Amino acid sequence: MRAEAARPFFNSLALTDETGKVTAASPDNGDLVGQVLKSNASKQALAERKPLVSEPYVGVTNRMIVLVSEPIFDKDGTYRGFISGTLYLHDDNVLQKILGKQESNLNGSYYYVVDHRGNIIYHPDKSRIGDNVASNQAVAEIMEGKGGHMEIVNTKGIPMLAGYAIVPSVQWGIISQTPTATVTESVRGIVARMALVSMPFILLLALLVIGVSHRLAFPLRRLAVYASLLNKGETEREKVPALRMRHHLIYEANELNRAVIDAFRVMGDRTEALSLEAHTDALTGLHNRRFFDSLLASWERQQMPYAVILMDLDRFKSVNDTFGHLKGDEVLRFLAARLNADRRDGDYACRYGGEEFVLLLPFGDKELAYELAERIRVGLMAEESPIGRPVTLSLGIAAYPLDGPSAAEVVHCADLALYRAKEEGRNRTVVYMGGDGKRLIIFLAL
Ligand code: GH3
Ligand code: MG
Ligand code: MG
Repeated sequence: MRAEAARPFFNSLALTDETGKVTAASPDNGDLVGQVLKSNASKQALAERKPLVSEPYVGVTNRMIVLVSEPIFDKDGTYRGFISGTLYLHDDNVLQKILGKQESNLNGSYYYVVDHRGNIIYHPDKSRIGDNVASNQAVAEIMEGKGGHMEIVNTKGIPMLAGYAIVPSVQWGIISQTPTATVTESVRGIVARMALVSMPFILLLALLVIGVSHRLAFPLRRLAVYASLLNKGETEREKVPALRMRHHLIYEANELNRAVIDAFRVMGDRTEALSLEAHTDALTGLHNRRFFDSLLASWERQQMPYAVILMDLDRFKSVNDTFGHLKGDEVLRFLAARLNADRRDGDYACRYGGEEFVLLLPFGDKELAYELAERIRVGLMAEESPIGRPVTLSLGIAAYPLDGPSAAEVVHCADLALYRAKEEGRNRTVVYMGGDGKRLIIFLAL
């Protein structure tokens, strides 16, 4: 179906409550809603209450599918079920979109994807999907969690150069295979051939790993976080948030929105709905502190790694004193717009307090955070603000779980770094380093 082919991530989405009953599904599937799921994958999701990627199995609709699921917990940490996305392995799916394109580019070479048990999830030859290829040497390496490249002989007896890499978020391996014969004969010896072939391959593989990871685990995780926030609002039930997602995430976000609204109808008054206002800062339109706290609590439960950039405007009191509070407000909105423009898709910009802001970078490390922080800081220095001249920022960076086992500790580290940035003269980024709370690496203003 055309509409299904257009779906960027999953072929279908469902919301399941803690008893295993489907409360909402998308595309609309009247038969599924209200059913108690019986597949091993769903049972496992309910039993383990953690992010899971199933092995391929034949679902109720008689299709071979993979179920990717994320648990949902409410604010008290009570388990509320899970949100899941399915891939129809034999239909048009996201892997085809990412990997299918490669076929024509490379002479006789192809990509395929296996799960952590060696089951084929994606293969250009659809008849191979579902096969177990654990005996393939490259696949064996993947099952041990390794990436790399080697010479192998494929199932048809053709010598191949294989490059392989793991998609960490789902524990799948992507393997590229190229017939050894296509590598020119003038390149003698395995090592030279490897170097020639593997360089572009490894690069490409790295990109594919990022692509697959982002398109599978990432959106679902995000949807689960939103679903978990649904228990926290105070106002009317029907007000489900316009999700703050951009570009490619919008489609899935709408799907979830609908799924969630439906779910609420079913769940009745068991749950208070999340209101947009409850999680948005009125002045800047960014996420508010409450949202920030909920999100970090949720990430902590899921042990999701992230980096945090805490920032505070320099000498903002004097902006207010000189130009008035209203101008000051304009400056805050101006900064909010900049943060929204500079952040990556998937990062969250929040107003942390008065003139303090924070960026959350899911899966981000301090290096990435530093680059972004500096881009923001330097960009801000170069731009005229509403007061007719640039304003400056001090920034502090920390990361979870590197800097602490809880969100509170990590934010505290970012705060220490920010404090140091102020002490050192403002308009600079400081990265928190080391567990004693004293060792900080300071990057001076450019
Ligand atoms: P520095 O951070 O560089 O140490 O100096 P600062 O002058 O910015 O000091 P501080 O962070 O302590 O001051 C924060 C000021 O921000 C005080 C307060 O008047 C102002 N502020 C807080 N919230 C708002 C707001 O919503 N609108 C406006 N216009 N000002 C605000
Ligand atoms: Mg302040
Ligand atoms: Mg300040």
